[in-house]
Amino acid sequence: MKKHTLDTSIRYIKGVGEAREKLMGKLGIFTLRDLVSYFPRAYEDRTLFSKITDLQIGQTVCVRAMAAAQPKLSHIRKGLDIVKVRVVDESGSLEITFFNQPFIKDAIKQGESYIFYGRISGTLLRPEMTSPIFERVKQGDGGAASLLKQHPRPLASPCLSSLTGRIMPIYPLTAKLSQKIISSAIRYGLEKCGDELPDVLPGDIAGYYELCKARYAYENIHFPEDFKALDIARRRLIFEELFVLVVAMRLMRERRTEQTGKCLKMPDFEQFYKKLHFTPTGAQKRAITEAAEDMTGNKPMNRLIQGDVGSGKTLVAAACAWNAWQSGLQAAFMAPTEILAKQHMNSLSKLLEPMGMRVGLLIGAMTAKTKREMYAKLSLGEIDLVIGTHALISEGVQFHDLGLVITDEQHRFGVAQRSMLTEKGDSPHVLIMSATPIPRTLALIIYGDLDVSTIDEMPPGRREIETHIVGENLRKRVYGFVEKLVKQGRQVYIICPMVDEDDGDRGTVHLSFGENENRHPHLRAQKTDEPSPCLPHPRPLASQELKSAKEFHKQLSAEIFPELNVKLVHGKMKPKEKDAAMNAFSSGEADILVATTVVEVGVDVQNAALIIIENADRFGLSQLHQLRGRVGRGEHESHCILFNSGKSEISRERLEIMKSTNDGFKIAEKDLSMRGPGDFFGSRQHGLPELHIANFATDMLVLNQAQKAASDVLKKDPELKSPQNKDLAEQIKRMFEINADKMN
Ligand code: ADP
Ligand code: MG
Repeated sequence: MKKHTLDTSIRYIKGVGEAREKLMGKLGIFTLRDLVSYFPRAYEDRTLFSKITDLQIGQTVCVRAMAAAQPKLSHIRKGLDIVKVRVVDESGSLEITFFNQPFIKDAIKQGESYIFYGRISGTLLRPEMTSPIFERVKQGDGGAASLLKQHPRPLASPCLSSLTGRIMPIYPLTAKLSQKIISSAIRYGLEKCGDELPDVLPGDIAGYYELCKARYAYENIHFPEDFKALDIARRRLIFEELFVLVVAMRLMRERRTEQTGKCLKMPDFEQFYKKLHFTPTGAQKRAITEAAEDMTGNKPMNRLIQGDVGSGKTLVAAACAWNAWQSGLQAAFMAPTEILAKQHMNSLSKLLEPMGMRVGLLIGAMTAKTKREMYAKLSLGEIDLVIGTHALISEGVQFHDLGLVITDEQHRFGVAQRSMLTEKGDSPHVLIMSATPIPRTLALIIYGDLDVSTIDEMPPGRREIETHIVGENLRKRVYGFVEKLVKQGRQVYIICPMVDEDDGDRGTVHLSFGENENRHPHLRAQKTDEPSPCLPHPRPLASQELKSAKEFHKQLSAEIFPELNVKLVHGKMKPKEKDAAMNAFSSGEADILVATTVVEVGVDVQNAALIIIENADRFGLSQLHQLRGRVGRGEHESHCILFNSGKSEISRERLEIMKSTNDGFKIAEKDLSMRGPGDFFGSRQHGLPELHIANFATDMLVLNQAQKAASDVLKKDPELKSPQNKDLAEQIKRMFEINADKMN
């Protein structure tokens, strides 16, 4: 067999066939490198052993005990079998019950010793354990735990394949993959390629900041020897990730500041404003002027327009495109989805074509012929503004003279995609629009040298959206309200937290933008008693309580609103289906749109007057705010109904904030202070390459160190040419390549 390297496909791993290769592909795992970089999302502490007399109710522990009798199977009724077995250690006895696992009757044998891991219930006098994870104690084995102390530890040692006595990694999964499959594949990968893992941190940096070696870090992030080792591993990996990112950002910035921009003539914006059917707000005018000052300077503009949903950012983009056109330059406007691209096409062509501009659309769904025609027009300069998706960065696209690149809702794009569009021109000006409010301190780090304009004023005449927090008891009334509104000709959004029932990562909702990027939610080293999905566990899984869009859509259209036209849209649908559903809704043909968070960004259907959000307590406040911004965009009085399925005071309190204000920046601040920054800055909101393990907000201290280290390294070796920075340079190159791939 060929020698495995980090770039070897996982197909060649023992135990990974074609089917599993596909499943792992869904998680973004293709090579051994991806595999060993697929970090656990949590850990389960199975290191704690207890004597039976010392057990405490509610505790989750390992007990080493002998089966005192043969297990008894009783058939209670259809669908309910129970196996009971009494086990003893030198201190006492414990009753163990398994539900619906009749085979356990023969798996446990009287007189043999086992380690049971589970939660203790019952009473102190009669402790019980229900459906524990268990394994037999092998002869001459002092318990799996004792093996853990061996050092150095061969990775293949039996303790790592054991289910108890150690800290278990819990991976984010997809249906049909188990924790066991993933973790043994990872173990295999580490064994084969552990020595190849590049040490991208230059030796003196690792020494100064007391960071462990790459191999130790990778081994212990997956299979931690103890919690201390886990902390050491995490710190190294977080540092490394941030360090690489900061170095990459600096290199990119260097490139930009060496450039000279296209120097435009300052146009007379009154000419532009005169043609609008509304008066721009002061904040819009300010942002437009600030951008125009950049564009008439001699450096390329690099400006971020921050503004709450509905504050009118599109007009700023339009004015800038018009400005470029006044100087004879083309503009490209990249939106994250086809729906948004078409929407912008619609409104911007209406606005700009009467002024004489030629506006075109370029999206993946167009036929090859139409695309070719658009390519030709772009390269001949027959289009002044092209609006599109990432289809704009495909190879065939060439511009006659690209002067301005606009990206909307930038957190959906990575740095690399943006720069690929920029490279289609000769140092064009760049305008980035975001509806995610970011505190200044963080913006400075994340965006480096971006200039920021904030639109802090709403167009006049906006009605506040009325927000209601309700529980299940009001569901009937809510449905009545839906019917009433639809009779009046209005439309309704219903948002669910999940696409379908088996959404892999059970019990957690990704509180971040973009439901289909489910890779690496932030990892937290937590001692959890959460069930690992492959093993039986008595506690109900939280996901069963969450509404899934597919199921709910079925129920709504068949049972609750059989008379109404109910459509469904979610991120797992094919683009064509998604478009069809969205078009049906925006044309007014559909009355109700059941959706996941795919609709959160920018979609504009003015006739929608109600948005209902299921399991609202499971969303971040900023996200709820974005969702709420889907209504109240037209002349109709609009409502937002939040179903609160949370039981705690805090979840209620959080939702009350939604009721108390419609101001996105205020909500973001509250969100930060209540939830902590971790969730708020979920790794996908900032347009940087996806973070695997670090977190901008919680790892601020490490970020500072990484920045300092990056400065030191770049001062000595600005282009990373020296041999000791070879691995680092390669890693950075790979990072940009990976992110570019994602766009195709
Ligand atoms: P966002 O900042 O969320 O992208 P949009 O640019 O989509 O907001 O604007 C939201 C709506 O407000 C659009 O229908 C737009 O035509 C309208 N609008 C924008 N600016 C003004 C204004 N100054 N006065 C009135 N309506 C405006
Ligand atoms: Mg917008």
